[in-house]
Amino acid sequence: QKRVAVLTSGGDAPGMNACIRAVVLACEQNGHECIGYKHGYNGLLNQEYTEFTADIIHNLIQQGGTVLHSARCLEFKTQEAAQRAASNLDALNIDTLIVIGGDGSFRGAMHLSNHWDGQVIGLPGTIDNDIAGTDATIGYYTAIETAVSSIDKVRDTADAFERLFLVEVMGRHAGFLALSAALASAADYVVLPELFNGEEETLNDIHAQLTVRRELRGNISYIIVLAENVWPGGINDLSQRLNALTNSEVRPVILGHVQRGGSPVSQDRILATQLGAHAVSLVGKPVNAVMVGEVNGKPCEVPLPMTWESTKPLDESAVQTMQALINSRYA
Ligand code: ATP
Repeated sequence: QKRVAVLTSGGDAPGMNACIRAVVLACEQNGHECIGYKHGYNGLLNQEYTEFTADIIHNLIQQGGTVLHSARCLEFKTQEAAQRAASNLDALNIDTLIVIGGDGSFRGAMHLSNHWDGQVIGLPGTIDNDIAGTDATIGYYTAIETAVSSIDKVRDTADAFERLFLVEVMGRHAGFLALSAALASAADYVVLPELFNGEEETLNDIHAQLTVRRELRGNISYIIVLAENVWPGGINDLSQRLNALTNSEVRPVILGHVQRGGSPVSQDRILATQLGAHAVSLVGKPVNAVMVGEVNGKPCEVPLPMTWESTKPLDESAVQTMQALINSRYA
């Protein structure tokens, strides 16, 4: 029997609760005790934790957000903080710490592991899907759904006035969410960090595509999905420059934090449940400083540094399909 602690850190993502639930239930089934640290690494530094009860776990799978709360904790980057966290974990006789979060949280987990003898396991929880070593991250599928349903609504009003809309989608510095949202919402164009060739080239390309469509079909609505952090001057700058170039009103829409919220879709619930259970199956085994991910439907263990040292590429066939649709005259 071991003592396990779990925390959620960094940007919150739908399905973090489902993952906490999976960890707690798997611990119970395997005879381990489980506590939850609150507010990410802050809880670890301040010894702020909670015991889990049946009331906390009941219905948790369907709730957005995280009952343990998430937070950033700049202080955790210091050596002193990692040592304090290690002695706090030892004071509670914790054998294994499970960290649900993104690549920053995994750097933190590795940092702790360098100062603590216990076992550290990461679980990928972020809407960005920007973690190498796993096909998908917990929260990514729900964020796609949220973005798509928002873009569907933008399309209704865009069609009514035959307007150009620019919709900014999250993703940090990766284009997974923007590409998937663009494909599923039948966006007319998408601007992705992985394929960005500079401002002038992008502006000219959009203008050329729009001109072809307009020559064929007259004034039409046109939806451009923009991944956040790609356009150097931000969405308003792109909007104004497109306005001038195309001689049409361009409306910018930033989807923002709604993409982090909501009840997780079934894919995220299943991923969270499978990964959480697999992480607990490793408790007490000679495996340390790994992330548990899923590749081709199978759980796998990846050394934590690999999750941020290699860059996960966009799906090549999805890129090609999107490109063909952008060039299509009838889309
Ligand atoms: P997301 O990408 O979804 O926002 P994330 O986990 O990458 O999630 P970050 O804000 O980058 O979010 O990191 C979360 C926390 O992890 C930080 O606030 C900090 O406490 C810790 N952390 C990040 N980088 C390091 C590091 N190099 N050393 C120690 N701790 C770190």
